[in-house]
Amino acid sequence: MSKTGIMGGTFDPIHYAHLLVAEECRRSLNIDRIVFIPTGTPPHKRDHAVSPAEDRYAMTLLATAGVAEFSVSRTEIDRRMPTHTIDTLREFLAEGIAPEDLYFITGLDAILAIETWVDYKQFPSLCTLVTATRPGYDLRGLEKLPREILQSLKVVEIPQVSISSTEIRERVRSGRGIRFLVPHLVETYIESSGLYREPGPDITGGAAV
Ligand code: NAP
Repeated sequence: MSKTGIMGGTFDPIHYAHLLVAEECRRSLNIDRIVFIPTGTPPHKRDHAVSPAEDRYAMTLLATAGVAEFSVSRTEIDRRMPTHTIDTLREFLAEGIAPEDLYFITGLDAILAIETWVDYKQFPSLCTLVTATRPGYDLRGLEKLPREILQSLKVVEIPQVSISSTEIRERVRSGRGIRFLVPHLVETYIESSGLYREPGPDITGGAAV
C-alpha cells in the first residue's frame, strides 16, 4: 500500500507555502500521494466567518491541478456538520490504508492546539503527525505536548517562505496585489468571485494565523 499524506487546513485561501509544505513533506517522508482536505465547518471556528466551503474547495482544486501526486477531497466539506480530524483518519483507514502508511500534515499552531481536538490521544495509533517549521513559530511550544503525541510527531523543515492566508486576505481587502503569493488560477478566482474584498470579523479564532 502506498503512503498517503492528508494535508488538512482551512485553506482560506490556499497559497504557495501550503503547496511547498506538501511537497517538502512528500519528498522527505517518501509519501506517494498528498490529499488536500479543506475543512468543512471548523469545530473550533463556529463563531467566526470562514469563506464558503465551496470557494475554498474550488481554490484548492485550482492550486493543485496538474500535480500528479496531489489531489483534493471533499470529505470534510460534504459532512456538512462540524468535522473532526479523527473521523477523517478513520475514513482513510477504512479504505485499507495501514496506520504506518498514513500521515496527517498541518500547521504548527494547529498542532500546538491538538489537546483541544476530539479523541486526540488516539491519533498516534492511527497515523503519523507531521508539521512544518515556519517563520515566527517557536518550536519550544511543542515541549508542552503529551509524550505520546511528541513521539508520533515529525517536524519537517521547509524553506522559510512567510506567506499566510491572513496576510493574503488583508492584502486583497486593502487593494494590494497577491500575484506570486498564490497560484495564478487562485488569484483569478479571488478577483472574479470578490472574495476577501469586504472587511470581515477576525476569522483566525485568535491564533497567530
Ligand atoms: P488553519 O487555520 O487552517 O491553520 C492553522 C495554522 O496552520 C495557520 O497558521 C495556517 O496557515 C497553518 N496551516 C494550515 N494548514 C497547514 C498545512 N497543511 N501545512 C502547513 N501549515 C498549515 O487551522 P485549523 O483550522 O486549525 O485546521 C488545521 C487542521 O487541523 C485541519 O485539518 C482541521 O480539520 C484540523 N483540526 C481538527 C480539529 C478537531 O478534530 N477537533 C480541531 C482543530 C483543527 P494559513 O493561515 O496560511 O493557512
